Amino acid sequence: MKIVWTLLVGLALAGCTPRPAAPPAPPPAEVAAAPGRDAMTPTPSGFDLTPPTAEQRQALEAALDDEARQVLLEHGTERPFCGAFVAQKEPGVYCCRLCGLPLFRAGTKFDSGTGWPSFTTPFDPAHMKEVRDTSYGMVRTEVRCARCDGHQGHVFDDGPPPTGLRYCINSVSLEFVPVGRPLPDKLGRGEGKTE
Ligand SMILES: [Zn+2]
Repeated sequence: MKIVWTLLVGLALAGCTPRPAAPPAPPPAEVAAAPGRDAMTPTPSGFDLTPPTAEQRQALEAALDDEARQVLLEHGTERPFCGAFVAQKEPGVYCCRLCGLPLFRAGTKFDSGTGWPSFTTPFDPAHMKEVRDTSYGMVRTEVRCARCDGHQGHVFDDGPPPTGLRYCINSVSLEFVPVGRPLPDKLGRGEGKTE
């Protein structure tokens, strides 16, 4: 896995700004089928995975800045050590920046040294969609938001306990909600509860 990091870091050594127009990764060749989940059934943590309507998606995408759009919608990768949440340690919940679905609790975040926010455990495994990604000559497992399909990052099997997993996530794909604040309810589904 060090080779992967080296390659990724090497791709991004030019610093945080300005951001050149990097070519988007080609679409993954194989999509892992979701394990038989009915999107209408709430997830174990009580969230509705029904995708946004076309109108909602249009509005949510229009609200993204260029970098978020490039990562979330075009499977880009932000430069390491540049994201807003790399060193953040506040308690709270990290949600999908596009649709607001909670993806990680701050308590599962760890310092991986990679330059990207890293987590051991999803908020709810049903909230993550895994896709086999063979771009750049590597075989990786891409992770997307299970509700809006927004690209989040990749998951590797070299993480610390308790899962041994390392969810390597782009800051720009996330929205942080400090503990005690209501979760986002971007789709108007009454999800604005307080963790
Ligand atoms: Zn989402």
